[in-house]
Amino acid sequence: MKQLSLFPEENTDPRSPESVNWNLWHGCTKASAGCLNCYMYRRDESIGKDPSIVQKTESFDLPVRILRSGKNKGLYKIPAGSHIFTCFSSDFFHPAADDWREEAWAMMKERWDCTFFMITKRPERIAEHLPKSWGKGWEHVTIAVTCENQEMADKRLPIYLSLPLFHHSVMIEPMLSAVNLQPYIDAYKAPEGTPVLKHVSVGGESGSKARICEYSWVESVHTQCMKNGISFYYHQTGAKLLKDGKLYQIPRKLQHSQAHKAGLDSLRS
Ligand code: SF4
Repeated sequence: MKQLSLFPEENTDPRSPESVNWNLWHGCTKASAGCLNCYMYRRDESIGKDPSIVQKTESFDLPVRILRSGKNKGLYKIPAGSHIFTCFSSDFFHPAADDWREEAWAMMKERWDCTFFMITKRPERIAEHLPKSWGKGWEHVTIAVTCENQEMADKRLPIYLSLPLFHHSVMIEPMLSAVNLQPYIDAYKAPEGTPVLKHVSVGGESGSKARICEYSWVESVHTQCMKNGISFYYHQTGAKLLKDGKLYQIPRKLQHSQAHKAGLDSLRS
């Protein structure tokens, strides 16, 4: 028997929640400057694969797979309460995936007992491709948007912040310029007067061809968030960080910890 129940407190899954990657389709086409050094392109090209061909993966139905044996037989393979990170080698709203998306939404609806997180560079396609029962948003699904520079913030935020989403979350990564969010914080308010935008995550670019991220850009977005009660996370420094006029080359393994040491994180629920 599956662990479906009407109320979360009725969940009887004896297992601990997990963090799970769900790449339901693979392949993408470049959408903007942030895509220049896309890690998926680098990886596919290194093995002679064409990264621009979008294909369904063998993991397509992962969230709704059922255990066929063992003491948890009959439960979903992914435990209740798990955090499922979706579509990390594609874009959930890529046009080549239009025929598969409805089924993907149905799986997410079935697994209301987990959370789903995805990032898109195509917010202009979201409204047309939400499921019929979406209403004002599904609380367990977060669709974040990437704005890697001011140009993309100006283009994507007016569209994104107008969408019916339960969580509005912006990723400025790889950060390629200073970004002024204030016009969009001021223009898009919830009925109670707070900004629609609830969370901002910032990070530099990694990899051998990484572009420079200036620490003053990160600090500026942090200040904007703190002034407006918006949750902020400095995800990673990137490989090249310019701080106080000095360029730091930061090894991959230290990029997360160094960002954390900056002490800028201010996460709110
Ligand atoms: S949208 Fe994401 S997956 Fe697609 S090319 Fe750009 S960086 Fe790569």
